[in-house]
Amino acid sequence: MARGCIEIRMEKCKGCGLCVAVCKKGNIVIAEGQINALGYAPAEFKDPNGECTGCKMCAEICPDCCITVYREHKAGAASE
Ligand code: SF4
Ligand code: SF4
Repeated sequence: MARGCIEIRMEKCKGCGLCVAVCKKGNIVIAEGQINALGYAPAEFKDPNGECTGCKMCAEICPDCCITVYREHKAGAASE
């Protein structure tokens, strides 16, 4: 299975929590104690155990296109 990671443009994030709700791995949280320039507590990627699959659900649901997903494929593995 492909592994992934994401980048969240926290300065654009409105903290709506949709990405938090949709990530089945629980890899996204609303950052505690942080407020961005828009005045919102932004989402933050937390994946200490490397569980992100790169499924892109978070990026697809974000209404402000704040999330970019990167996927890694093992050499020789069939792509999905
Ligand atoms: S790509 Fe999928 S597994 Fe990774 S953070 Fe987004 S929703 Fe979660
Ligand atoms: S869905 Fe987008 S705007 Fe909403 S909390 Fe996640 S990154 Fe921020």
